[in-house]
Amino acid sequence: MSVVGLDVGNETGVVGVARQRGIDVVLNEESKRETPAMVSFSDKQRFLGTAAAASSTMNPKNTISQIKRLIGKSFSDPELQRDLHLFPFVVTEAADGGVAIHVHYLGETRSFTPTQVLGMVLSNLKSIAEKNLGTHVVDCVIGIPVYFTELQRRAYLDAAAIAGLHPLRLMHETAATALAYGIYKTDLPETEPIHVVFVDIGHASMQVCVAAFKKGQLKILGQGFDRSLGGRDFDEVLFHHFAEKFKEEYKIDVVSNPRASHRLRAACEKLKKVLSANPMAPLSIECLMEEKDVRGFIKREDFEKLAYPLLERVKAPLEKALAESQLPLDKINAVEVVGSGSRIPAINRILAAFFKKEPGRTLNASECIARGCTLQCAMLSPTFRVREFEIGPFTPNSEKGKLKIKIRLNLHGIVSVESATLIEEEEVELPVNKVKDHPQARTEASPMETDKEGTGGNKIEMDVDIGGYEHPAQPLSENGVPSSEDKFQNLETDSSKEAVKKKRTKRIDVPVNEVIVGGLPQADLQKSVEKEYEYALQDRIMEETKDKKNAVEAYVYDMRNKLYEKLQDYVTDTEREELSTKLQQTEDWLYEEGEDETKSVYIAKLEELKKLGDPIEERQKEEEARGPVMSELWY
Ligand code: ATP
Ligand code: MG
Repeated sequence: MSVVGLDVGNETGVVGVARQRGIDVVLNEESKRETPAMVSFSDKQRFLGTAAAASSTMNPKNTISQIKRLIGKSFSDPELQRDLHLFPFVVTEAADGGVAIHVHYLGETRSFTPTQVLGMVLSNLKSIAEKNLGTHVVDCVIGIPVYFTELQRRAYLDAAAIAGLHPLRLMHETAATALAYGIYKTDLPETEPIHVVFVDIGHASMQVCVAAFKKGQLKILGQGFDRSLGGRDFDEVLFHHFAEKFKEEYKIDVVSNPRASHRLRAACEKLKKVLSANPMAPLSIECLMEEKDVRGFIKREDFEKLAYPLLERVKAPLEKALAESQLPLDKINAVEVVGSGSRIPAINRILAAFFKKEPGRTLNASECIARGCTLQCAMLSPTFRVREFEIGPFTPNSEKGKLKIKIRLNLHGIVSVESATLIEEEEVELPVNKVKDHPQARTEASPMETDKEGTGGNKIEMDVDIGGYEHPAQPLSENGVPSSEDKFQNLETDSSKEAVKKKRTKRIDVPVNEVIVGGLPQADLQKSVEKEYEYALQDRIMEETKDKKNAVEAYVYDMRNKLYEKLQDYVTDTEREELSTKLQQTEDWLYEEGEDETKSVYIAKLEELKKLGDPIEERQKEEEARGPVMSELWY
């Protein structure tokens, strides 16, 4: 069983794996610990991860990023509508009201769902894990933002299935961070908990949680978030600033030109990073548009002034999380900052002023979510022994409602309704004997009961009262009408009276028709799985084609050198002439009509060259084998 944790960000993905000696964040093929969460499409194949990012400037229209912003949303979603101008690729409304991403792929325009694209991102992260572990990876834990809706969670599970993954749990990124922090702390108190606030500012959103730690225990006390406040919003401030400036200075309208906009946005992101470490930063882009080179610079203090409205928004999620935790400020023992978007110094100042203490960066800001997810996966796996650490459910406060609903929250945070009962209280006059002997009188189920069936997941109390899982829903009567039942409280009786006024609680079972919204029907999911297999096969064919082409090229250079060095004594002038000409022709062919050939053509070409080259090499090898024997005879 594989033990893998995946953090899929809007910008980058990180892969954690468990080995017997601990948790490792693994390197991708470029020896990097972070892999761009991107997919790029071309006429011949698609590119995943770093290769996709490399083609984003040349091929922005067909390079998909920020897939987390699109997943599980309807096209009309106001947040998505606000995001649209940030995507260099084409996004339209799909027939089902969802999102269709259009790209040019394998010679035609094709459309993909965000679930399919996320499936591709996940399959790339999966292959990174597989290469490192040397085994097949299926089981994993995947991080998700705390604010994800049920539809988004279901879409994640579908995307994982497309990638051939089986998530044991979708874990809140905040909880993963807290777990990664707590598990290594050996000095956690036995009784009075310590309270730590985790602030994660990523590329597109901000999440905050207040966690309580005791020895072997973690409880999330409060959460806050801003779905649309992240590093990219600061890039956007700089982008608009410079676009305005260039309009005046160079008379170019960058905003009207998608490629120039893409380049300016990328340059602004770099500029922002420079400003995190320097009081001012230059910007210079060659040939941005209309063949004009542009230049500019900005001071950190001016950037902060421009970003003031964004910086102001940082406080609200902090206030919300703190209020929810019901802790006074002086009970907060530490503030930990993660997410690379939080590297802006002004954000640090805001956090320090709010919590009245300097935020720490003891966690590895870009790896803690993947590490936390991997730890969680190890805890769920029978193959690893992990220090006991209990993670408490996050239960938002709620008032008691009139509808009693038994809800199950499964490990992925997806809610299903077990049963619903309408509770009505009324005062009625009842004959005494009926009170005593009511056949259906029963005791009230406790609102929160343990998961005795051991199927995992939590029951949560929301706006409504929640019953225990092991109590089956009341059956419907034969004609489908809900059965009703009277329940009596304060059953004091007075036998001297005929009838007595009592408070009666009427329980009416409400039929629950659970409509599963979101997620792909099984047949569609299967189709997507097959398609992904097809695309992956196409990628593999292209990789192998590239390898074969490289082999031809390598043979040309290698043999050309050998003909004048190692093989020169074993080749006749005519042979050398013939082979050299052939090598030259092949080299020209590789740069012209043979540039984009199929795998079998390259294999045939190599064979053709080897037919001439091999006999010469054989001669040299035979001679070499004979060599020592001959020389022995001389002495
Ligand atoms: P999300 O959490 O929104 O899904 P993510 O996890 O991919 O996205 P991170 O990798 O945490 O996001 O952060 C990426 C953001 O951090 C980008 O906007 C990037 O520009 C920004 N960033 C990276 N380094 C710095 C820096 N030195 N100063 C300021 N911002 C930075
Ligand atoms: Mg993140």
